[in-house]
Amino acid sequence: MKEYKAWEQEKKLIPVMIKKYCQGKHRQKDLCPECQELLDYALFRLEKCPFKVDKKFCSFCKIHCYKPDMQVKIKEVMKYAGPRMLFSHPVFAIKHVGQMLSYKRKLKKEGKKHA
Ligand SMILES: [Zn+2]
Repeated sequence: MKEYKAWEQEKKLIPVMIKKYCQGKHRQKDLCPECQELLDYALFRLEKCPFKVDKKFCSFCKIHCYKPDMQVKIKEVMKYAGPRMLFSHPVFAIKHVGQMLSYKRKLKKEGKKHA
């Protein structure tokens, strides 16, 4: 299922990122209840994502359909774990960052069109 690649990658990436964040920030070996809740929520949203088949979209777009409090938390996780992913999962992270940047650029372009 080639079309699902980005989505499937993300499904693997999110638990890794949240775990990294929890280990670093909350000093937990396994996920603390708060981070577990965030992970459950993130995976639930991912499952429901309407852009599942469109590999151009990544976590960045999905963040926008998160509840506000979860949105804040997942952004924290990405800010914290994102740069650290470069060391443990270089290929993963570079791909992911590339997708994020192109999505951001696209948003900027579209924003300009409307402005
Ligand atoms: Zn935690």
